[in-house]
Amino acid sequence: MSGIKVRFAPSPTGHLHIGGARTALFNWLYARNMGGKFVLRIEDTDTSRSTDEYIGSIMQGMRWLGLDWDEGPLRQTERFDIYSGYIDRLLKENKAYHCYCSPEELEERRQEAMKAGTPVRYDRRCRERTGPVEGVVPSVRFKMPLSGNVEVADMIKGTVTFDNGQVDDLIIQRSDGTPTYNFVVVVDDVEMGITHIIRGDDHLNNTPKQLHIYEAFGYKVPVFAHLPMILGPDKARLSKRHGATSVTAYRDEGYLADALINYLVRLGWSYGDQEIFSRQELVKLFSFASVGKSASIFNPDKLLWLNAEYIKSTPADKLSELVMPFLVKNGTIKAGDTPDKELMLKAIPQLVERSRTLIDLAAQLRYFISDEYETDEKAARKFLRPEKKKQLVFLNEKLRSTSYSHDEAEQAFKSTTDEFGIKLKDLAQPVRISLTGGTASPGIFDLIEILGPRSSDRIDRTINEIEDPE
Ligand code: GLU
Repeated sequence: MSGIKVRFAPSPTGHLHIGGARTALFNWLYARNMGGKFVLRIEDTDTSRSTDEYIGSIMQGMRWLGLDWDEGPLRQTERFDIYSGYIDRLLKENKAYHCYCSPEELEERRQEAMKAGTPVRYDRRCRERTGPVEGVVPSVRFKMPLSGNVEVADMIKGTVTFDNGQVDDLIIQRSDGTPTYNFVVVVDDVEMGITHIIRGDDHLNNTPKQLHIYEAFGYKVPVFAHLPMILGPDKARLSKRHGATSVTAYRDEGYLADALINYLVRLGWSYGDQEIFSRQELVKLFSFASVGKSASIFNPDKLLWLNAEYIKSTPADKLSELVMPFLVKNGTIKAGDTPDKELMLKAIPQLVERSRTLIDLAAQLRYFISDEYETDEKAARKFLRPEKKKQLVFLNEKLRSTSYSHDEAEQAFKSTTDEFGIKLKDLAQPVRISLTGGTASPGIFDLIEILGPRSSDRIDRTINEIEDPE
């Protein structure tokens, strides 16, 4: 085990979304690649927006994606005593001070600064104050340096320089006693021994503030990697407007976790032109040297393509397990029931080429597993004409004398098309509708071989439904 330790630190104010999952993945990959540790930390200090339900759903999303953590989940709300100790220390060392300005006063000054066009920053009037203000509970502010620069060494962006003059004297503890984000992040990263901070570059502007806090404590600064944003196809920051962004919504839409992982890793990381990677390959190949500097565009079509590729390459046995909840959802089976495994293992290989999601796969498995399936009425009207009746009766008689093997079924069709002087497709389409309810399905002879005698029952059912010729 190396000394590398990374963390994923979601705020539980929403479900695990695509951006968060990508951050978690890059942390996980780095830890696994380097033989380091991966910590899950829940940043729930914003108690008005954080919920236990979101914590549960974030962990569920990570588990589904196979992003296992070595420590945690640690919750910041359980660590307030620790933060208080650190705040006291800064106050004692004169590196922080009490601020007695009320939120109303601060807002008033902010408005004035905006009107005057001067920078909207705290004017530091309490920084040199010597005594308390009677009857006012103060907040605590951190003393930022007043001049000079600070440099962020970033594995993706290189060195980024910030002017200290632009950094506000940050509130590290609100007057209600709760500590603030930029402060607790540093305390936690130090306490947990985090060596590399991998997060979205929306946090880049927080980094100089955090660096000054490290410095005030005299702690070693970790290495940073700020991941470029993920944008929607319209180049705006990815959001709900662009469709499902929560990881569990993709799960429910029939995406495979491995496909989503493969898609997420390519939002920022590349390895030549290679598109498809096994998880072992990713762990082996991942490095920040191949993480790009520019934002990535989220492309739902590519994700769907990748999912279809994964469905094609996943063993039928595994697919038969993964598809189960979707068979329950589409009403093919009841929760807890298991369909005939042998039938599933025969049917699935016939369907993978035409299934882009597990929902597609479940929809087609329905007519293999159950005799209750929807019929496409329009196709039925078009293909199940009265003159077909005789042909289907003839075919079914032939079929019943076979063992329903692919080749015997082909023979039975041939006899029928010869007898009536029709083409194969003139017979295949009505039979297809009879056996599956629709006009798109695997090869008709394969279908008959898998369904066996049930094929004849279904053809009989169709014969009864077709009107007699005039
Ligand atoms: N809690 C922050 C967020 O969810 C992440 C902070 C960090 O990674 O430093 O955006």
